[in-house]
Amino acid sequence: MSSIDFNPVTTLREPTELVAQGLVSVASLRDLEKVAARYAIAVTPHVAALIDPDDPQDPIARQYIPSAEELVAQPNETPDPISDDAHSPVSGIVHRYPDRVLFKLVHVCAVYCRFCFRREMVGPGKATALSEGAYENALAYIRAHSEIWEVILTGGDPLMLSPRRLAEIMADLAGIDHVRIIRIHTRVPVAEPSRISREMISALKVGGAATWMALHANHVRELTRKARAACAAIIDAGIPMVSQSVLLRGVNDDPAALEALMRGFVECRIKPYYLHHGDLAPGTSHLRTTLERGQEIMRALRGRVSGLCQPEYVVDIPGGHGKAPVGPNYLSPDNSFSAESEQPTEKRYRVVDYCGDVHLYPPAP
Ligand code: SF4
Repeated sequence: MSSIDFNPVTTLREPTELVAQGLVSVASLRDLEKVAARYAIAVTPHVAALIDPDDPQDPIARQYIPSAEELVAQPNETPDPISDDAHSPVSGIVHRYPDRVLFKLVHVCAVYCRFCFRREMVGPGKATALSEGAYENALAYIRAHSEIWEVILTGGDPLMLSPRRLAEIMADLAGIDHVRIIRIHTRVPVAEPSRISREMISALKVGGAATWMALHANHVRELTRKARAACAAIIDAGIPMVSQSVLLRGVNDDPAALEALMRGFVECRIKPYYLHHGDLAPGTSHLRTTLERGQEIMRALRGRVSGLCQPEYVVDIPGGHGKAPVGPNYLSPDNSFSAESEQPTEKRYRVVDYCGDVHLYPPAP
């Protein structure tokens, strides 16, 4: 590690502060000022302390420290890569699937991820939270749509709200008869675990609906002792947790890194849920991998770790068509032909085992 004192006391938000902490070079400052003018920066003291400034490939730094590569946008990248806006009937709500909505309460986060698919919408300077009127309209929309079974609080990061405000929101939602599940998407337990206070946890528990939490983390080093303790407190309070990760080049795009992350989640009693292929957000191509590489890694993961550790590999289809599983396929029709008839021998299947060996599976009688 560097000799620099690596424990900033406040969140780093300016390129000059990153230089002062030895996290970026002075030479990069001009480019990073351009990046900062467009995309928010925030590195909490907790996250900054995880970065090895002597490692130019540090997997934590790659997620949070801006780079000049963000100034290069590819033609297929768009500001709203999964078309939230096209499915937003009222401000703050995204209703893409029949039985659930996203409820975007705030546009701020504890940290700003360099690959964020909502990077054009989050950060200081954007509308920081829904106005009271917009909040009431969004609630009215949920009330009027009895097919909405699950409300997903997202943002920004909903855990940036105060426990008092969160408790009010949870009570409002749980007071709607057909809302049975409230799911919270957050990075706070790994980015700023000290926010997970007793008050915060009790604000999340509410009668009338089950609370679930989806934790976003991409590298096992984010599961620090403090982060693990925060998650344990949440789960011990009766809130089940699942994980979300993004497949990121140079962070977790190899089987060993992904295996360590997934084992870490399960050790924390967090069920691996989604592994997202990187969305086509502007200036993020340097962090994306190919779908083929993603499938290769998933295949390797299946051969190495327990089924408990397997996330679903998904891609959000551009244009707002939702998520599709894109993991490798282990089942295909057996099209082998008999030598005599040149017809398929019988309608069988080929199944690939965890070692990559192929076996035949009989048809239904
Ligand atoms: S915490 Fe989530 S919403 Fe916020 S910058 Fe990271 S990925 Fe985007």
